[in-house]
Amino acid sequence: MKSTMQDVPLTVSSILRHVATNHAGRQVITYGGAEPARTTTYGPLEERCGQLANALRRAGVGDDDRVATLLWNNQEHLEAYAAVPAMGAVLHTLNLRLSASQLSFIANHAEDRVIITDSSLVPLLAPVLPGLSTVRVVFVAGGGEVSALEGNGVEIIRYEDALAAESPAFPWAEPDERSAAAICYTSGTTGDPKGVVYSHRSMFLHSMAACTGNALAVEEGDRVLPVVPMFHASAWGLPYAALMAGADLLLPDRFLQAAPLADMIQTHRPTKAGAVPTIWNDLLQFGSSHPDVDLSSISLVACGGAAVPQSLIEGFADRFGVPIIQAWGMTETSPLAAVSRPPAGVAPESDMTYRKRQGRAICGVEMRLTDEAGMPVPRDDRSVGELEVRGPWITGGYYNMDEDSDKFRDGWLRTGDVGHISPDGYLTLTDRTKDVIKSGGEWVSSVELENTIMGHPQVAEAAVIAIPHERWQETALAVVVRTHGSDVTADQLGQWFLENCPAEIPRWWIPKNWAFVDQVPRTSVGKFDKRALRAQHADGDLVVVPN
Ligand code: ADP
Repeated sequence: MKSTMQDVPLTVSSILRHVATNHAGRQVITYGGAEPARTTTYGPLEERCGQLANALRRAGVGDDDRVATLLWNNQEHLEAYAAVPAMGAVLHTLNLRLSASQLSFIANHAEDRVIITDSSLVPLLAPVLPGLSTVRVVFVAGGGEVSALEGNGVEIIRYEDALAAESPAFPWAEPDERSAAAICYTSGTTGDPKGVVYSHRSMFLHSMAACTGNALAVEEGDRVLPVVPMFHASAWGLPYAALMAGADLLLPDRFLQAAPLADMIQTHRPTKAGAVPTIWNDLLQFGSSHPDVDLSSISLVACGGAAVPQSLIEGFADRFGVPIIQAWGMTETSPLAAVSRPPAGVAPESDMTYRKRQGRAICGVEMRLTDEAGMPVPRDDRSVGELEVRGPWITGGYYNMDEDSDKFRDGWLRTGDVGHISPDGYLTLTDRTKDVIKSGGEWVSSVELENTIMGHPQVAEAAVIAIPHERWQETALAVVVRTHGSDVTADQLGQWFLENCPAEIPRWWIPKNWAFVDQVPRTSVGKFDKRALRAQHADGDLVVVPN
């Protein structure tokens, strides 16, 4: 029997029309540092989106053409987020922290036709542009110098001039909901970056899921601050979720350090915010030496992309009175797939057993664990396996790549993450397959070791990597950043760990090798870069202190 329901496509165009029609007065604020913030509302924003779409048409952008952005989180980026898919073209967010060679690989692979950038990023784009074989036009927002881009046979147009020349009216497309809306490349920590292509339908469903109460509960009364870059996995879907809900957006532009973030939050009072743990950890360290920092407007900090240390969740609650909710996902999963809200009825005193986990699947996403032979692993919270996921916003392949077969099994995405799942559905990750430490044939969880070490009051950051060991093949090396002014030693840390060893950590896991650094290297999306740390160790650049 067929249903009687209308078959209306789920599209980004419909999200844009919705917000402009129903929430036209809600605000989009771009923080300006020492300059005043720029503020607009969704009504005028939709008109600017119309002007942008007309300008892109004039620049030759047709259906399915890729329009790249090389932008901070700001109003122009939001305009591209809405206008490009809504006109029927494909948004390609370029990661501005990648090397020139990675940027040109990605832009050429995606066959970008137009790039929208900001004049502050001209020095980054200029050396890359001559190698981009498909780019015909670059739009530059901001008033800075653009001459370094000229002379490449590419038309350089000022963004505001392009918009000013156009009508705000645009007949927004009604594309097939299964067609491409956006493409984002994985950050390439293993091998070349791979393109994940999101559909209108996956974007729509993912945004709706983000708005639900079990996920991030975004609603009209919110002011959402995506610190997580819009060039990375659609800033966890926060911009589209805010458009769908009609929530205000507060966009940090290039001001991502602790001091301006604290000022931005105090001045513009967001209610929800999202970023990787390193950002919140920096803010916590900053807050410990600046007693006046007040983040109390925030009712939910979404944190993920890497394991969230328990000490960070506790520190945020104690220092700022702000709850951190952990989420798990990847570029391939749009990215929100699991969120760690404690189950109903759990008393606040005991909810940490849940909040330190990666979370429960959002409805729509299914999770399972498999062993090395691909056999199912039980959900008993003990048995460890590789996490596999499937769902309507999980990728089923990579753009124009043949050799991706080992990433998929029977329609499930193999995540490369390793962990266990409790009978009530809570995922705990113990590692990524590429970061796993295998000592004497047994797995040692770098995540659990880091989590414990970061609980030491004089440890600002800790990353644990595998190093070769004569007898055990591999052993753990703890790389530590001490808090300002601390001279805590390897012996003291080892002794403290022994005295505070959580029940779930076998004592033989406790690191016997320590190294102290000023900063743990970060990946292009701000996570600890363990590959770089392993290379530093292999090159003899880390002073290893045994205890
Ligand atoms: P990259 O693979 O370069 O880090 P992604 O942003 O796609 O790029 O990363 C996805 C990965 O991030 C996941 O596979 C997982 O290893 C890690 N991750 C995401 N969220 C969490 C979390 N809450 N806890 C631990 N790891 C996480």
